[in-house]
Amino acid sequence: MATRGTRRNALQLGGAVICGLLLERASLRGGFDNTRREVFASTDVFARSLAALDAHAELRAGSILHFGHSTHLLSVAGVRVLTDPWIYDPVFGALRHEHGLPAHPSGLATADVLCLTHEHPDHADPTALAHMPRGARCLVGSARTAQLARDAGLTDVTLMEPWQSLRVRELEITAVPALHDVPEVGFVLRGAERSVYYAGDTREGPALLEIRARLSPRTAILPVDGMHRKGTQRMTMGPEEAIAATRTLGVSQVMPSHAETFLHDPIASAFLWEKKDDAAKAFVALAAAGLPGVVCLNPAAGEIVAL
Ligand SMILES: [Zn+2]
Repeated sequence: MATRGTRRNALQLGGAVICGLLLERASLRGGFDNTRREVFASTDVFARSLAALDAHAELRAGSILHFGHSTHLLSVAGVRVLTDPWIYDPVFGALRHEHGLPAHPSGLATADVLCLTHEHPDHADPTALAHMPRGARCLVGSARTAQLARDAGLTDVTLMEPWQSLRVRELEITAVPALHDVPEVGFVLRGAERSVYYAGDTREGPALLEIRARLSPRTAILPVDGMHRKGTQRMTMGPEEAIAATRTLGVSQVMPSHAETFLHDPIASAFLWEKKDDAAKAFVALAAAGLPGVVCLNPAAGEIVAL
C-alpha cells in the first residue's frame, strides 16, 4: 500500500512539474502577454494634468504628459500624440510595470494620433489599443505593428518608412530610423516652436547625427534601461549610451524613458533577460554631471511637463 501511495504521489508531483514547465514555456513565449487585469493606482494626478493641458495654450504648444514606461501623451502644436501604449501586464511573459498606472486607458483616448514604433508588447499592447477610438490616426513602424493595430479595431493605420513625413494640422511628423531586434521607426514631431524626438527602443547609431542634421529636434525622449537577452547585444540604450546620444543629437532637453519595469519571473531574470534597474535615476545623475546646459525632464507617472 505504502509503495502504491508513494508511486501515486511521485506521479502527481511529476505531472505538476510537467504542467508547470509547459505553462512557463507558454508564458515566456508571450502566450499570456497583455492579459492581466491592471489596478490603476490613482487617477487624480493624471486628471489634473489633463485638465491643465485643456486649459493652457502653452502646454498645448509643447508638453509631455507621462503615463509610464514608454507611454507618453505628447502635445506639440496643439496636436496630441500618444506614444507606444502599454497598459496590461505581463510582457515577454517576464516583465511587469514597476508602478501602478495613473489612469485607465480610456483616459488616453483624447489623442489625435497614435505613434507605434514597433510590435513588442510593451509598445503596442493590443488590449490597450482596443480602448482607443476606432478612427484615431495610427502611424506605425512595421507591417506586423500595422496588423496588431488593425486587429485591435483601428481603421486609419499608416505604415511609415524612415524619413517619410506627414502633417496633422500644424504638426509635422517624421519617421526616423531605429536600431532594434525587430523592424522599427522612431518619430520626430515638429511644430512652429517646439520639436520632440521620441526614440522608441533603439541603440545608438549613425541615424542620430542625421536626425540632428535634418530635423534638429529641441527635446529627446530616449530609452535608458539597456534591456537585452543575456549573451546578446543591447536592444536599447543604457544610461551611458543615452547620455552620449543626447550629446550627438545636440538637444537642449532630454527625458529618460523605457525604465519602469521589473522582471517578476525568476527563470527569466536568471537565464533570459538583463536590464539596468533604476535606469532613469542613473541617467538623471549622469546628466547632472555630464550634460551641462541640457535640461533633464523626469516627470512621475501622471505628471505633465512643459517643453
Ligand atoms: Zn522593443
